[in-house]
Amino acid sequence: KKALVWLRRDLRLYDNAALHHALANNDQVWVAFIFDTDILEPLRTEGLDENGLSHDRRVDFIWQGLQQIDKELRKQGGGLIAQFGKSTTCIPKIAEILGVNTVYVNHDYEPLAIARDGTIARSLEKLGIELESFKDQVIFEKKEILTNSNAVFSIFTPYKNNWLKTLQEKHIAAYECTPNKDQLAEIPKALQAPLPSLESMGFTPTGIETYLPPGSEGGQHFLEEFLHRIDQYQIGRDFPAIKGVSYLSTHLRFGMLSIRGLVREAHRRMLAGSMGATIWLSELIWRDFYFMILANHPRLAEGAAFKPDYDNIKWESGAHAQKLFKAWCDGKTGYPLVDAAMHQLNQSGYMHNRLRMVVASFLTKDLGIDWRWGEAYFAKHLNDFELSSNNGGWQWASSSGCDAQPYFRIFNPITQSQKFDPEGKFIRRYLPQLDQLSKKSIHAPWESGHIELEAAGILLGRDYPLPIVNHDEARKKTLVRYSIVKKAN
Ligand code: FAD
Repeated sequence: KKALVWLRRDLRLYDNAALHHALANNDQVWVAFIFDTDILEPLRTEGLDENGLSHDRRVDFIWQGLQQIDKELRKQGGGLIAQFGKSTTCIPKIAEILGVNTVYVNHDYEPLAIARDGTIARSLEKLGIELESFKDQVIFEKKEILTNSNAVFSIFTPYKNNWLKTLQEKHIAAYECTPNKDQLAEIPKALQAPLPSLESMGFTPTGIETYLPPGSEGGQHFLEEFLHRIDQYQIGRDFPAIKGVSYLSTHLRFGMLSIRGLVREAHRRMLAGSMGATIWLSELIWRDFYFMILANHPRLAEGAAFKPDYDNIKWESGAHAQKLFKAWCDGKTGYPLVDAAMHQLNQSGYMHNRLRMVVASFLTKDLGIDWRWGEAYFAKHLNDFELSSNNGGWQWASSSGCDAQPYFRIFNPITQSQKFDPEGKFIRRYLPQLDQLSKKSIHAPWESGHIELEAAGILLGRDYPLPIVNHDEARKKTLVRYSIVKKAN
């Protein structure tokens, strides 16, 4: 029997459910990846360079990861079949040319991807080819973890408790993916082609590999380094200036690391009494939680608030809102922690979790801007953009989500800064113009006296913006804005 494994967001050749099943049940196996124009074209709508090329770190990161996969497959005889086109046409065509019996994939939980897979399954069926799909990117999916009354959870803590109670060795065992000799077959001439270059697909190299080593190799390297620090995770994870978190989200997003491997590491250490590993595992469970929420509430992918009453909130609109939003995007709000965080995102495609919460709260509750605007901006710029977690995070911050912040909890961007960046180290890294301010003044420069500002060489309004809103006034406005929800409850 012959099979095609179609990689999508599971870019690794080890512990991969689809690859495992293909190898276990077939004599010959090929591996393919499609640079899908349906996904890539919308990424090329703005910000093109003089050659009409787009700068997207994720496309580059994927491309580099695929080079590793191609190299690995070539060592074993085959090679990666990589094409640039619509997956709905490419996959059936490739499967037909190869003459396979089955196409193997791993489940995707996003509504558009589910629809795409349905279309492809129907095209394949007409050719007499089956599409088989497996759970791979989460530990528990869809309706595997339910309440005592068999309902879907919407609150995290009881979900997590049940998740942990359900977990057994078998759920996190690695899938064997070693091919037999000659099982990874040569690619037929009609399909032989080098990996399409980034430029040929309309993208430029971005240099992401200089700080985020791609592929399973890069992920493994980051993981090993993190495991030396995991026991202190609970101490450092909220401080963006220190290396407290794992920085593994992008590798996880593209499946360059296996979630089972990460949970195995965390769970083993948790049982051995590591507090850091216990808290880190809890974060990985949040990831499963949001995938589960999206799978059971696909309307969230269309912009619906989890709590429908929150769709009645009147957000700021018009030119004024556009101006505030632009200041937020550009890191020019006059609140140093918010601005430094936005610079981190714009410069690297990463933002620390504490800062994601701070800037999301600031956008929705200080500027009164619709959380969907922020969600879309993050979707465009985050290397680790994940529809489920991003939507979950934004709805948490705007209070419209399942198990979200209560609407009257409004982060104070100054006290958050004093608490989580006490020396202003993170702020100084991204806003060097504030470097000369003392650790007391750096969180709210406009409160410093003229003498200190002058000595630091800063003229507010010229070297750094004055705050675009007054937090205390914004807070009061937000409570009024959200009162519609209070009445509805
Ligand atoms: P670590 O602290 O090392 O955590 C390990 C892993 O656990 C992460 O890689 C991630 O897979 C998972 N995780 C951690 N926190 C969360 C969380 N709150 N929700 C879900 N999973 C979590 N995460 C994304 O992967 N993609 C997104 O698009 C995304 N958007 C977000 C938007 C907002 C507004 C907020 C508040 C959070 C968002 N998160 C998102 C969650 C979290 O901020 C990132 O997962 C985390 O910062 C990634 O860094 P890390 O790998 O060093 O995390």
